[in-house]
Amino acid sequence: MSISVEGITKHFGSFQALKDISLEIPDGQLVGLLGPSGSGKTTLLRIIAGLETADEGRILFQGEDVTRLHVRERRVGFVFQHYALFRHMTVAQNVAFGLDVLPSRQRPSAAEVRKLVATLLEMVQLGHLAERYPAQLSGGQKQRIALARALSMKPQILLLDEPFGALDARVRKDLRRWLRTLHEEFHFTSVFVTHDQEEALELSDQVAVMSAGRIEQIDSPQKLYAQPASRFVFDFLGNANVFAGECEDEVLRQGEAWVRLPERCSASRQQLYMRSHEVSLQSTSASHAYLPLRIESISLVGAEVRLELSPVGWQSEELWEVGITHAQFNSWQPGRGDQCFAVPQVAHAIDADAHTPRTLHWQAGEMDDPAAMI
Ligand code: ADP
Ligand code: MG
Repeated sequence: MSISVEGITKHFGSFQALKDISLEIPDGQLVGLLGPSGSGKTTLLRIIAGLETADEGRILFQGEDVTRLHVRERRVGFVFQHYALFRHMTVAQNVAFGLDVLPSRQRPSAAEVRKLVATLLEMVQLGHLAERYPAQLSGGQKQRIALARALSMKPQILLLDEPFGALDARVRKDLRRWLRTLHEEFHFTSVFVTHDQEEALELSDQVAVMSAGRIEQIDSPQKLYAQPASRFVFDFLGNANVFAGECEDEVLRQGEAWVRLPERCSASRQQLYMRSHEVSLQSTSASHAYLPLRIESISLVGAEVRLELSPVGWQSEELWEVGITHAQFNSWQPGRGDQCFAVPQVAHAIDADAHTPRTLHWQAGEMDDPAAMI
């Protein structure tokens, strides 16, 4: 079932929590709402659910206007961050709860409820825990029960508000994978709120990045990462190395450092943003960039070795971060205090007054002698 959000505005007193939000969610998609705390994610989700009313705008499910429908009539499933299971009920009773409270005309028979509960518990792989109480479950198990309960009403729309927020990293990762599988198997349309960019990028077909009550960008994870529409999106989706300077013709300078851009400067003051994998390191400077750095720290982070670097002869508000492979690390054997040079492969140029970053690529010929690459 598709979801259309059309021009939704919401105030709490004089504070505007949502500013003219529009969003199209095709049938069967999993869309992540990603943004910092207070950006309006929960409010938007509650308006889609019918738990909160908007000041202006409409919500449509599969083309049908549900703006004035009560939450019960919208037939959406929810899962919240805090499990909200009933403590005095067993797992099976929790899952059956939504069915047990239906008006008698709609309520399935006790045998049908038992059967459905057993199926749902199998689906979340917790059939063996049916007679336990919530206090006897782990956090991850409780969230799976909460999900089974949400699915008992056979919703075509599932709304999840930071469902894994209170769990530890390992369990979150397992649950993510499992939610994705479930989503593909049952073809519901899901909206998933998170402030964790990795979670949003891994799980979603599309991610809507929210900031201060607006949607900054909605795109596939790949596109958001490769072509951020604003500086906010760029910053929010991960660490950025920044080189800010004065630009003339095509050379951007600051202190002793400079970068020759593949095109003419579009403004006199510019910033180049580079993600850690868009920069390589060399023992000598490249022909298109002179960006000397000193190694401040070296840490082994899973598959890569991450270096923190400080500028030498120029300035940066934050340390730079560049990841290299273990093979590069082993052949180079860098130590703290060593100097090297950053070589931008791809950079995102942001003018002092422009909103949208431009992505710059250097051609192989404009770059350097690969022999010098570390
Ligand atoms: P998020 O889920 O992105 O953290 P919320 O949607 O919960 O953000 O909140 C957005 C803003 O609206 C916040 O500044 C919050 O304080 C405010 N807000 C949310 N709900 C209420 C409410 N019931 N009354 C007053 N202000 C609220
Ligand atoms: Mg929230």
